[in-house]
Amino acid sequence: QLPLALLLSLLTGYIVWLATANRMSLSWQISYGLTAQEFMVWCQPLIDGGSGGCCGIELLLRWHNPRQGWIPPDVFIPLAERQNLVAPLTRFVLMEAVRYLPRLPQRADFHIAINVAASHFHRQAIVDDLQKLWWPAAPLPGLIVELTERDALPVVDQEVVSRLRQLGVKVAIDDFGTGHSSLSYLKTLSPDVLKLDKMFTAAIGTDAINATVTEMVISLAQRLNIHLVAEGVETAEQASYLRQRGVDTLQGYYYARPMPLEAFPAWLAQHKAE
Ligand code: C2E
Ligand code: CA
Ligand code: CA
Ligand code: CA
Repeated sequence: QLPLALLLSLLTGYIVWLATANRMSLSWQISYGLTAQEFMVWCQPLIDGGSGGCCGIELLLRWHNPRQGWIPPDVFIPLAERQNLVAPLTRFVLMEAVRYLPRLPQRADFHIAINVAASHFHRQAIVDDLQKLWWPAAPLPGLIVELTERDALPVVDQEVVSRLRQLGVKVAIDDFGTGHSSLSYLKTLSPDVLKLDKMFTAAIGTDAINATVTEMVISLAQRLNIHLVAEGVETAEQASYLRQRGVDTLQGYYYARPMPLEAFPAWLAQHKAE
């Protein structure tokens, strides 16, 4: 009896140790990777539902680690959030965006969207970063902050929201309709933009329940006069359905996959509105 119990506890202890060590080393690797220029900012075009033209880009982080290859943001962002490393990553995205600004359209109707984790959004730090890094560089194009959350958002700091508004920054709720992205944020954040999660776009024409949610979010956004972005548009059917329903902006592989920022001007030059 005893040796088995001992063996088991040793084994679980070992597994826990291994997992922790792995986590620690990955978070260390994030900090190191930032200085070693292993991170890149990619972008995915946003398509105007009316004209079919490109009306902006969402910036998406990419990490190529020479030891482990490409590590997806769904893996390293949650980790960075837990290790308080998300603010340096957001600053990196902002600095890259500012660096690329001269090569992006300078129009009032062209927007750059960045993802900000709820944990970072909650603090004044995001306002300070934007004021320091973004504002001096560019009143144009417009900036959208997409509020991403993995854990339930504590309390939204109204001060942060109103200071962002003063800076002319638009606030979007990402992954709307899923998990923690609940209806109560419509009131506390009074968002400018809702991003319908790709799971609901995928449901169009296939899944009755989720397709009903898609319909509800479309009417909700229209009634409240909130700009709606449908993400994860992969097929012509989804695109035409969403456009017929008057969805403002579309985003997905059907139009363009995420690409390095360097590749965007060439993509834009050959993209035709339809
Ligand atoms: P998200 O903000 O919901 O971003 C959209 C994700 O959907 C991206 O995954 C994008 O590549 C993917 N996607 C775009 N079009 C399609 C499509 O048609 N079909 C499908 N199946 N997927 C599509 P990605 O780049 O792997 O990013 C995953 C998540 O990581 C993001 O989800 C976002 O929450 C987070 N993330 C990425 N970059 C950043 C960042 O700079 N800061 C923070 N805080 N989070 C980030
Ligand atoms: Ca997003
Ligand atoms: Ca999303
Ligand atoms: Ca997501």
